[in-house]
Amino acid sequence: MPVQHETKNSPLLDAFRPQGGWMDPPNDLQPTLEGKVSANVVVVGAGFAGLSTALELAAKGVDVVVLEQEYAGFGASGRNAGYLAGSVGVEFDFFHKRVGLNKARDIVRFYDEGVGYVEQRLAELGIECDYNPSGIVRAGVHPSQKKRLLKTMELGLKLGSQTEFQDSKALRERGIPDAFLFGYYHPVGGTLDPGKYVAGLRRAALRAGIRIYEKTPVLSYSEGPVVTCKTEKGSASAPFLVLATNAYTPQLGLLKNKVVPVRVSAIETDPLTPSQRESLGWHGREGIMSSHWILESHRLTARNTLIVTTKRVNYAYGGNTSNVPDETAYRALATALHDRHPTLKGIGIKSCWSGYISVAGDALPVVGKTGAQQNIFYTAGCSGHGLATQSLMGKMLAERILGSEHELLAALQHKTPTLPPEPLQWCAFKMALGAAHTMDEITNRSVRSGKAGLPEGG
Ligand SMILES: Cc1cc2nc3c(=O)[nH]c(=O)nc-3n(C[C@H](O)[C@H](O)[C@H](O)COP(=O)(O)OP(=O)(O)OC[C@H]3O[C@@H](n4cnc5c(N)ncnc54)[C@H](O)[C@@H]3O)c2cc1C
Repeated sequence: MPVQHETKNSPLLDAFRPQGGWMDPPNDLQPTLEGKVSANVVVVGAGFAGLSTALELAAKGVDVVVLEQEYAGFGASGRNAGYLAGSVGVEFDFFHKRVGLNKARDIVRFYDEGVGYVEQRLAELGIECDYNPSGIVRAGVHPSQKKRLLKTMELGLKLGSQTEFQDSKALRERGIPDAFLFGYYHPVGGTLDPGKYVAGLRRAALRAGIRIYEKTPVLSYSEGPVVTCKTEKGSASAPFLVLATNAYTPQLGLLKNKVVPVRVSAIETDPLTPSQRESLGWHGREGIMSSHWILESHRLTARNTLIVTTKRVNYAYGGNTSNVPDETAYRALATALHDRHPTLKGIGIKSCWSGYISVAGDALPVVGKTGAQQNIFYTAGCSGHGLATQSLMGKMLAERILGSEHELLAALQHKTPTLPPEPLQWCAFKMALGAAHTMDEITNRSVRSGKAGLPEGG
């Protein structure tokens, strides 16, 4: 049922930033839509997916209107951890048997090619977003995590995810903090400032003459040869509609039984002092993901703070995406911060925030078309991996609208499992997440007590 929030004073709640820690609402907020407008394509949602689609279309001379309920980057795109990650961290065993080896290989290629696409776009659009192409490390914090980590790595290698095993010595040579005992390194991607990236896409879109309407929630849309989106004070019509609304999509009546919004949280420390920074080592500043069932991610920023994300995620009952704090998650993240980086004891937390990703039953992207004329396109379900993939999705959707099909888009077509209605959906997700949190907590307690923990494999 809906999550209750504590109201008592708490330093973590004091540090809550509803819009996330990376960006503020833009100074040049674009107008609310008033009256009727028309275009060749209407895009709803100004995150990585929506803005990338709009930019790719505009580059081909297509007239695009973007409708955004708040401002560009308000959703997960402005609030994520900034891992420009390829296939590292993808749970291959969720889908490889269901889709078959060849399709699974193409899906892995889709994740990895998303990184190259973003790197290319940063250069082409001149977006400066503190990108550090360090690659990413996935690592265990307890011996009991090794068997599953190796199994994931081996399956990944079979599917084309090129990783290198890192024993403790290799991790220490990289300067990775001592809490991380073994792992694998994926030399693709790195970390960036997602707020600067999405703001850069927004600037590029405005430069390209794309009409963006902010503070313009779409209330409903009609089907037909011309699709019309209704908003509070107007409407936008076009022969094509793209719903790039990710976790919010079920609120528009679409994908209700295919994806669920899941709340993911983050905390950011105060800037590290030079001695705190030195105490960590970590000279390559690689993004680190742990190998918990629900991973922890630890990364340094260009402003010398440390951001810890994920670890404790929350199901949002009935598709509710309220912009509320999640103190339980922030506490869990603060514990992870102190468990993994004991030399930072006492460091202040500058910001805490939460956002929504959309998750399908097989953790794969959900992309397709709908409507009487099949002219309504949608993309959702990239789980916690949308920075690269939802950007590349924009290019693929633009190509599809222009009449050609990207080979990797074909690979993503598969039958997404159907989810049960509420409250069964709530029960299923609560049980699965509860079990994962419990197993991770057993591992964490074993780390703290120096005991052996669960048998290998969890
Ligand atoms: C805390 C956190 C950490 C994460 N870390 C990472 C990471 O390190 N790496 C990674 O790859 N991914 C990460 N993710 C996931 C990633 O951020 C998302 O997958 C990605 O941003 C999704 O982009 P999008 O454009 O599809 O959706 P969004 O960015 O959510 O954009 C959807 C937009 O649609 C708008 N909208 C919705 N409904 C309407 C409506 N009715 N009318 C008008 N506008 C509407 C919303 O306001 C929003 O701006 C993380 C997510 C979170 C929350």
